[in-house]
Order: sequence, then C-alpha cells, then structure tokens
Amino acid sequence: MIIAIANQKGGVGKTTTAINLAAACAGRKKRTLLIDLDPQSNTTLSFLQPEEINAGAYELFTEPDRDAREIIYQTDVPGLSIIPARINLAKLEAKLIGDFDSAYKLRDRLQRIVSEFDLVIIDTPPTLGLITVNSLVAAHYVIVPIQSSYFALEGTDDLLETIEKVRSRPNPELELLGVLVTLFDRRTALSRDVDAHIRQVFGNKAFNTVITRSVRLEEAPAHKKSIFEFAPKSSGSAEYEQLAKEVLKRVQKRASNGRANAA
Ligand code: ADP
Ligand code: MG
Repeated sequence: MIIAIANQKGGVGKTTTAINLAAACAGRKKRTLLIDLDPQSNTTLSFLQPEEINAGAYELFTEPDRDAREIIYQTDVPGLSIIPARINLAKLEAKLIGDFDSAYKLRDRLQRIVSEFDLVIIDTPPTLGLITVNSLVAAHYVIVPIQSSYFALEGTDDLLETIEKVRSRPNPELELLGVLVTLFDRRTALSRDVDAHIRQVFGNKAFNTVITRSVRLEEAPAHKKSIFEFAPKSSGSAEYEQLAKEVLKRVQKRASNGRANAA
C-alpha cells in the first residue's frame, strides 16, 4: 500500500506527518518504507547523517538498473527503512521533462520494491510539479495535511484538481484517504474555526485525529528521533499514534471493500 503525503503549501506538516506516521506504523509491526522526495531532505536528515548516504531518490528515478538495496537504508527505528533525498533531487524535474513516461517513473521503479513492505509513505515537496505528480501516480492513497491557520484552504482547490486529473487518466485508483488538521491550537478561536470549516468542507474525509501544535514535535528531528523515541509521553506522540490507527483502519476498510466488490 502506497500513501503520498501532499500539499503544495510549505510548512503545513507534511514532513512531520510522514516521519511520525511511518514510525508509528513500523511500531505496529508494519514493514514500512519512507521515501523522501523533497530536495530539502528534512525527512532524511531526521534519520540519517548526510555522509552515510551514497544514493537515494534521485538514483531511484534515474538509474533503473541500480540495485534497490543501494538506495534503501535501514533507520534506527525497527521495521522502518528509508529512501533518502539528497540535494541532487533538485535537478530531477528538469531531467524528467521531455521523457514520454516522465509521470510514471516512480510507479515503475517501485514495482519491484513494494512487495517487501506492508506500507510505503512518500513525503512530497511543496509544489505541484512532476515529483508530486509522480507520487500521486504511484500511490493508492493521498493524505493532505492542512494547517489550522489563516488561508488554510488556499491552494487546496489546485491540489484537489491535480488529484482529479491523475484519477481521470494515469491512476483511477488514487483515493483521498483523508485530510489532516495540523498545527492546531485549542486556545485560539481561529484554529477552532478553521478546524470546523475543514470538517464542513471535507465531511468524513477529515481525520478525527487532530495534530496539536507542540514544541516537542518541532524539536524531535534535530535529535534524529521520531516523536515516539524523543517524547513518548507528549501530545504529539499520542496524536500520531492515533492517526496511525485511523489510517490503517481506513486502508483496511477499503481493501476489504475491494475484495467484496471483486467477489
Ligand atoms: P512541510 O513538510 O509541509 O513543509 P513540516 O512538517 O516541515 O511541514 O513543518 C513545518 C515546520 O513546522 C517545521 O519546523 C516543523 O518542525 C514544524 N511543525 C510541524 N508540525 C508541528 C506541530 N504539530 N507542532 C509544532 N511544530 C510543528
Ligand atoms: Mg516537508
């Protein structure tokens, strides 16, 4: 099962969600692969030292014959592997443009890798460019984190339109798994209003779980730790654990519906 975390706005909690959702799923005994597709490499740097990385997402796209084992790294979290991003990923889009299969590279490359994992989680860059499109073409599901602040929904129309375009041709199976309210601050009326508005717009697509603003979540990456190792008793730890439960439940529900339909 492949889940892309996408929103072309920066700073909405994509990376924080990718890291901690992946760690929570690994903690639930799911063999989990995290793929960092943002050239900024924040996801990567919260697990690996730059000097230990010899190849990563860029090579996954551009060197189809390279052994996948040279691209996949084990993290300190049991059951969690990562395909890291390096700065060369910034050159990828320019390189892909013009290839007739430019949107399908990731889907193709993952084919021989996915069977080794129960779950693949893709962190995407803050653009709707080819890297994000590749992620949506490869994925079964997309999770959209939305920051509970002013202009929260600004840009989501473009994202939903891109998802619809991908569904209409390259990947009809793509489904919006859920919209996640992030950086929530219970004390402010604005945050509560935005949360209510998101629930009104997205109905049951909005996850019940809300991720509260927490300094612990912000600090964890600098210590190269997921929230579960860094601050297991924090609100962020409880919330991302709850999100993982909700995500896995939604995924399983779809999977069993699929089987019922096929029968
Ligand atoms: P994106 O990947 O969408 O750009 P990030 O996950 O990198 O977003 O988050 C942007 C910034 O906000 C980072 O500094 C991150 O540590 C911080 N952040 C994300 N979620 C939270 C949260 N729930 N509470 C506090 N800080 C957060
Ligand atoms: Mg990010």
